[in-house]
Amino acid sequence: MSEDPKSPASEWNWHPSLPIPTSPVFSWPPKPIAGLKWLASYWLWISGTTMEILVAILIWNFFMPDMETMATLSLGWVSQIYVRNLILICLVAGSLHLYFYTLKKQEAALKFDPRSMAKNNGKFTFRNQVHDNMFWTLASGVTIWTTYEVLWFWAAANGYTPLVTFSEAPVWFLAWFAIIPIWASLHFYWIHRLIHWPPLYRLAHSLHHRNVNVGPWTGISMHPVEHLLYFSSVVIHFVVLSHPLHFLFHLFVQALNPPLSHSGFDGLKIGGVKKVELGDFFHQMHHRYFECNYGTVEMPWDKWFGSFHDGTKEAHEGLKEHRQKIMSQYKKYRLGNFITRLFTSKEGLKIV
Ligand SMILES: [Zn+2]
Ligand SMILES: [Zn+2]
Repeated sequence: MSEDPKSPASEWNWHPSLPIPTSPVFSWPPKPIAGLKWLASYWLWISGTTMEILVAILIWNFFMPDMETMATLSLGWVSQIYVRNLILICLVAGSLHLYFYTLKKQEAALKFDPRSMAKNNGKFTFRNQVHDNMFWTLASGVTIWTTYEVLWFWAAANGYTPLVTFSEAPVWFLAWFAIIPIWASLHFYWIHRLIHWPPLYRLAHSLHHRNVNVGPWTGISMHPVEHLLYFSSVVIHFVVLSHPLHFLFHLFVQALNPPLSHSGFDGLKIGGVKKVELGDFFHQMHHRYFECNYGTVEMPWDKWFGSFHDGTKEAHEGLKEHRQKIMSQYKKYRLGNFITRLFTSKEGLKIV
């Protein structure tokens, strides 16, 4: 790929064609055919979404204690769920890491960032990026994910949550599966904006942003405060009619999608052919450029709020200008640096 050396796109080892698209589901004027094609692309082929729905069906049918048992909190079934979640995340993040980074099965093909995972770097716990990411994922991530899961199933088993079955409301039962990823995207955008507020950023989110270059274990490598906020997306099932399958699917969207979207690769190739769609160049740019792409491509929040980076040089310059404008507005309030520091990060839009 020949690039303008001054363009931010030239810093990547590989990138999708630019500008990157966002979901046409929210296009105005409406584009129903494009919207349906987009939805079909992640519901009908091998993707994170189809994997998460399959895992939810498998877990619900074969690896879940029965509702009667879960009506009473006890160490037995709680630890069973905890160990199962540890195994799940190790299977997903661990096998992607093994394939891409240990065995280097597809070398640098479809890899966004030219760098490898950091070693001997004091910014990471244990001075090692992969060990740091594994530690925060396993110690904090799986614990908080399991806590939400245990609380919901305990509440559901005691009749404290509104439950629904397919035969009671077939249309809602199916529609809720399609809405969950969109709700998760909306929730993620606002939580993410909140934790970029400098005091919360310093306290919690900076831990996830140690990773300028990302790998599968980076996905849910977060501070416990961020885990609490991030997984709170599933609290909606305490008030909205749901089946346990909806809840499990939603949890797996939150827990198992990030290792895929942070894999650092656009797709998994087997025998030179792309077999699994992984890439999230949109979020990869958030890790490198920082003040852009807070949401996901499923909902155009970043477009609506002027923080969308589509990968082009024009977008990069536009975003820099936008930030400078905001900074100078704050300065107009004549509260010196206080307001500026409270509401804007010192990082800005950077290239690293
Ligand atoms: Zn962030
Ligand atoms: Zn991230």
